[in-house]
This record gives sequence, C-alpha cells and structure tokens, in this order.
Amino acid sequence: MQVEIVGGGMVGLAFAIAVKRALPEAGVRVMEARAFPASTPDALDSRATALNLASRDILQAWGIWEQVEQSTAGIQSIHVSCQGRFGSALMEAGDVGEAALGYVTENHCLGALLLELAQACGVMVEAPAGVEGLSVEGGAPVILRKGGERHQADLVIIADGADSSLARQLGITSEKREVHQRAVAANVRCEGAKQGIAWERFTANGPIALLPLPQVAGGQCCYNLIWSMLPERCRSLEAGGDDVFLEALQREVGWRVGRFTAVGHRTAWDLVRVRAREQVRPGVVIAGNAAHSLHPVAGQGFNLSLRDANALANVLAEAVAVGEQPGSMNVLQRYDALTSVDQNFTTGATDMLATLFRARGPLLDVPRDTALATLDLLLPLRRKIAQRGTGRDRGSVMGEAG
Ligand SMILES: Cc1cc2nc3c(=O)[nH]c(=O)nc-3n(C[C@H](O)[C@H](O)[C@H](O)COP(=O)(O)OP(=O)(O)OC[C@H]3O[C@@H](n4cnc5c(N)ncnc54)[C@H](O)[C@@H]3O)c2cc1C
Repeated sequence: MQVEIVGGGMVGLAFAIAVKRALPEAGVRVMEARAFPASTPDALDSRATALNLASRDILQAWGIWEQVEQSTAGIQSIHVSCQGRFGSALMEAGDVGEAALGYVTENHCLGALLLELAQACGVMVEAPAGVEGLSVEGGAPVILRKGGERHQADLVIIADGADSSLARQLGITSEKREVHQRAVAANVRCEGAKQGIAWERFTANGPIALLPLPQVAGGQCCYNLIWSMLPERCRSLEAGGDDVFLEALQREVGWRVGRFTAVGHRTAWDLVRVRAREQVRPGVVIAGNAAHSLHPVAGQGFNLSLRDANALANVLAEAVAVGEQPGSMNVLQRYDALTSVDQNFTTGATDMLATLFRARGPLLDVPRDTALATLDLLLPLRRKIAQRGTGRDRGSVMGEAG
C-alpha cells in the first residue's frame, strides 16, 4: 500500500506520522515544495502555536512530548477581559486538574521534531519536491511531479496549505466566510510581565491574543501576539513604525500585562474562514489548511488537524484490519463523518470568539459583561469552559487563547 502526501508543513508531517504508525507496512512519502529551513529565526521573529491538552496527548502517544515540552511555555492561566468594561475572567489550570491549560511552542522547534519523527518512523520525506498535478486514473490517484515523474498511490493526502491548488485541480470548491477583519501577528517583549499567563482581550475593534513564549530575554517575557481589527485601522498601523505600533497595543491592552518594549517582524493579512466543500474523494483526503483555515485568534487550526490526523489513522487501521481498501469511499466517508462533527464545533466556536465580542451597543454589551464577571465567580462554569478548552471533548471555546 502506498500513501503519498503533498505538503510537508506541520500538518502534512503529522498526517504522515499518524498514518505510518497505524500502518507500518505502508509506504508513506511526503513531498514538500520548499527546502526545510536550516537556520532558526531570530527570537523576536519566530512563529508560535498553542497546543491544547488533546494535542499533548497525541504527541505523548507518539513518544515526542518530552522533547516538545522542553521548548514550550506552559499556560497556567488565561486572563480574559473586555476593554473598557468591568468584566474579566481568569481560567486556571487547576480548574481542569492539570499543570497547564495548554503549551506554546515555536513552529520551528515543533516542525523540526515532527520532521525528525516522520523520518525515524520510516516516512520518506522529499524536499524540495513540488507536485504539479493530481489525476484519478482507473479509480486510483496519480501524482504528477515537477519534471514529469508520476506516482500511483492507494491514497493521496493533500496538505498543500490554504487556497490549495491541488484541491482546485480536482474541482473541489471552498466555502468562504469573510470576517471583515485584518490581523497582525508578531512577537512582543514585555517588561514586568508574569510568566505562564495567556491574555485574551476583546476590544471594540476585535480580539487580541497574547501567548506566552518560552524565551525570556533580559528578564522580560515574550509573547506571540495576534491582533485582529478593522481592516482600515490595521492598514494604518502597518504603515507606522514599531513605536507607534507598541503605543497603540499598550492602549488597547492596558497595563495589566506590563510594558511593551519591543516588537519583531509584523505580518498582516485579511481574515477569511475557508472550508473545502469536500474533504474526501476516492483515494484522496484534503487536510490541514487546505481543508479548513480558521480565524487564528482561537489557536485551533493545528490542534484540529492533529485530531483529524489521529482520526484518519484509526479509521485506516480498522479498515485494513478487515480487508477494506483504504482509499475507498466507504472508508474515507467514515473519516469524514467522524471529523466533521469536531470541525463544525471548532469552526463555530472560533467564529463566535472572533465576532461575539464586537461592540454592538449597550443593550447587547450588558449580558456579555455580566457573563464575563460571573465567570470568575462560578467555579463549576469556569471548570466546564476550561475543560472544553482542552480539546479532549472535541473542540474548544477559548482554552488555547491563541
Ligand atoms: C498567525 C497564526 C497563528 C496560529 N496559531 C495557532 C495556534 O496557536 N494553534 C493552532 O492549533 N493553530 C494555529 N494556527 C493555525 C496553524 O498554523 C495552521 O492550521 C497550520 O499551520 C496549517 O498547516 P498546513 O501544513 O496545513 O499548511 P502550511 O503550513 O501552509 O503548509 C503547506 C505546505 O505545503 C507546501 N506546498 C504547497 N504546494 C505544494 C505543492 N504543489 N507540492 C508540494 N508542496 C507544496 C508548502 O510549501 C507548505 O510547506 C495559526 C495560524 C496563524 C496564521
């Protein structure tokens, strides 16, 4: 049996590991268009991912959690507040009986560990190795490589990122939801901040998430910032210098976090939630950002894809054990049914986070504030929300705050 994976991002590698572990006899190959980076980014320019507890469990089962954890910052609590309102809530790891609510890792560390594990499991990883096309011949998918080489497969997993060109080639369309917001992501350094706290701040313009990073420089904590706002405001901030940016951020977040002193490379983009209308075809699975790109403020995309990868591995192992063809629609539809519940919930919760707290006038603001204030007082409710945030009951409301 041969499984071909297009795209060696974190999701392509995760699917490769999950499938190879479930079907050790199968040949599994990852083809990545770009060479894997050999150097690490500057401390203030790295990108980060918040892993929830369900992801930790999966990485633990794969035997790499101890290594991953060494380069993570644990989130002991999440502070949720609304700009200019009296309500705020603190969710703590103790609410779910855990040492942390989630863990923040830098993508270059996690990516390198996933690559190492994939290769150690026996996955063939080729990079740079671009794939140009995909066709279905005689019921089996065929990969067309740059240079004309062709590979027939039992199963192709398309993990080539958002706006997948291979999914488009198959005629798979996407459902797009405009959020009418633009986000800026960057790392910021903060003086006087306490370690282990993630901050989620809802403003009239949109949500701001600050995830604690493992690195501490000169006694100052570093955070990975994702700041969503109205597009015109974002563009005017993009045009300004770092000082203007830090001043604006300080105004929006207030002083509870500490004093922002530096910002790294800033990236901005328009937010659109995209979901492929079909995620399975005979012999084909669409995965990761190619299948669903979520609003990043909730930090769900990779966590969700890791659960998808785990679900596919389980379905394939069960199918092969009873002699079913792993690429058949019967098998892949079972995967689709299993994951669509999780995807629907996670997408809904993410949309809610992105839009619920927008200013909508005093009448709608009151219950929202009361809910936040009450949240801090009602331990059982806090526990339930924090428990959801672990991702273990499929989906999360705000557990990863990223
Ligand atoms: C700012 C930001 C913060 C985020 N924070 C979090 C978080 O805290 N927690 C979380 O769970 N998620 C988070 N996410 C989401 C998460 O980053 C994505 O879900 C995840 O990275 C998607 O990975 P991917 O492998 O599907 O796509 P990509 O990372 O885009 O990888 C696709 C790969 O495919 C390759 N490729 C493309 N075309 C071809 C081809 N034709 N042939 C071969 N290779 C090809 C590309 O080179 C690329 O390497 C965040 C996202 C953003 C933008």
